[in-house]
Amino acid sequence: MNMDINTILYTTLIGAIIMAIYLYMEARRKPKKPEYKTIEILECTKCGYKIEKEYEPGDFIGMIKGKCPKCNSPMKIKAIYAVEKTPSKT
Ligand SMILES: [Zn+2]
Repeated sequence: MNMDINTILYTTLIGAIIMAIYLYMEARRKPKKPEYKTIEILECTKCGYKIEKEYEPGDFIGMIKGKCPKCNSPMKIKAIYAVEKTPSKT
């Protein structure tokens, strides 16, 4: 049997399509890494006013950081925790 040019073309085309679909599926299948951001809770030592801030390296629980916007007393870091960033809609 002899293969004509059309058969060769179709075979190549189908192969290319299959390859494209495969690569597409493979790219889609990759799980997205969940992104986290670290939050810290500052609490006023006097009036108990709380502020949620983004964590800065070197901060630790119990550290005095900043001043209360209400009563101007020093604020203490009460908690540090990570939250998952809500995935942005595409
Ligand atoms: Zn205060």
